[in-house]
Amino acid sequence: MIDLKQYEIWFVTGSQHLYGPKTLEEVAVHSREIASALDASTSIPVQVKFKPVLTTPEAIRELCLEANSTKNCAGLITWMHTFSPAKMWIAGLSLLKKPFLHLHTQYGREIPWSEIDMNFMNLHQSAHGDREFGFIGSRLRLNRKVVVGHWRDAEVQSEIGTWVRAACAWADWQGAKIARFGDNMRDVAVTEGDKVEAQLRFGYDVYGYGVGDLVKAVNEASDAEVEQLVQTYLDEYEVPAALRPGGEKHASVCEGARIEIGLRNFLSAGNFKAFTTTFEDLYGLKQLPGLAVQRLMRDGYGFGAEGDWKTSALVRAMKVMCAGLPGGVSFMEDYTYHFDASGDKVLGAHMLEVCESIAKGKPRLDVLPLSIGGKADPVRVIFDANTGPAICASIMDMGQRFRLVANVVDVIPTEAPLPKLPVARALWLPRPNLKTAAAAWIYAGGAHHTGFSYAVTAEHLGDFAEMAGTEFLLIDENTCVDEFKEKLRWNDLYYHLNRGLQA
Ligand code: MN
Repeated sequence: MIDLKQYEIWFVTGSQHLYGPKTLEEVAVHSREIASALDASTSIPVQVKFKPVLTTPEAIRELCLEANSTKNCAGLITWMHTFSPAKMWIAGLSLLKKPFLHLHTQYGREIPWSEIDMNFMNLHQSAHGDREFGFIGSRLRLNRKVVVGHWRDAEVQSEIGTWVRAACAWADWQGAKIARFGDNMRDVAVTEGDKVEAQLRFGYDVYGYGVGDLVKAVNEASDAEVEQLVQTYLDEYEVPAALRPGGEKHASVCEGARIEIGLRNFLSAGNFKAFTTTFEDLYGLKQLPGLAVQRLMRDGYGFGAEGDWKTSALVRAMKVMCAGLPGGVSFMEDYTYHFDASGDKVLGAHMLEVCESIAKGKPRLDVLPLSIGGKADPVRVIFDANTGPAICASIMDMGQRFRLVANVVDVIPTEAPLPKLPVARALWLPRPNLKTAAAAWIYAGGAHHTGFSYAVTAEHLGDFAEMAGTEFLLIDENTCVDEFKEKLRWNDLYYHLNRGLQA
């Protein structure tokens, strides 16, 4: 469902006519070589396309407008091989709507000590050419990422790759449709928000549906389709005898399959990338969608429970950011604590809807009671999550702006099996510790719902927030609550002044 190869990043080199055609030809050759090295880099998951060297304000402006109108162009990498007087960039950069990364590099890695002359120096000027370009970016108050180092270095390519992934997620949000079945869980505050503001800032559109529209799609699933999907379940999961054909709970599995078919058809027909459900609005559905949600998330859909469209969109963005990387992404909720001398821990889970992309081993299918929602026992997959470093991220509407907050955590094995817990789960130690992390999270107003991933990093999210012009707060091993609280106060001021009276 998610194909990053559809996106391209344009490699854009700045120069000027002062150097004469011969030098400019050499600049173009070098530039082409760097673009193809980045294109071939395994760290960069999209096509990197060389664009002709820019030497006039007109050409720069044209290129920026072309980037804006090229749907699969996710962003620009800019580099000033030589000196490119930056007034030439004002018109173009002011119009540019796509994210850009300023690559501060140099064609040749080392100075040839015994050979260097003024010709060499004139051709290796990015040390000052890029500063001139950097000034205009700062003067125009443009959000961008600056990456410094030689273009062949693995670290440089990896930093570019991280930004590229964030740019793909950003491109994916533009014009994205999110389906909402029912409204928010009644009385819940943090899952609310301004959808007009979200569309203006983030580019995605939230479409509301009565659950009856979904029920209709579910009822349209044929028995043959249901039978085929149940067979897929039997092939993919550990399935107890009671759930197999002839077993006492087999009908519940068939009903779950029917819900998956209906939901999948609905989302696919409407070209949706993410969705929400709510257990308070299930009229006409026999079960709360559990397995269906788990499997749709696995296939790349964003999801938020209880009408949480912001988390749904965030989960989708995180799915795009780490497409093709090992690790997985899930909707998650901080559920229960384990206060313990060896480190206070969080048991993360949800009522049903945890994505199997984070599962350790083969998930087990089961039909068990759900003590909420008042419906028939829903089918779901149950598993322990993988262990290792992970991130929880949450997005809130703070009134005048959106805020993205993330916490780096370490997922560890549970101390004993949890035979009676009927949901997928992950146990983690927040960094730097629960005491600091939870206090900072709560001061930030962070939600109980998160996007959770082993593959997405703080760098991905930071780059993404930069593109979105959104506040980003990271809680990790360096966090101190007092400083964090100060940052919250300063940010309140900054975003208030920065926003002013703009739309
Ligand atoms: Mn919830």
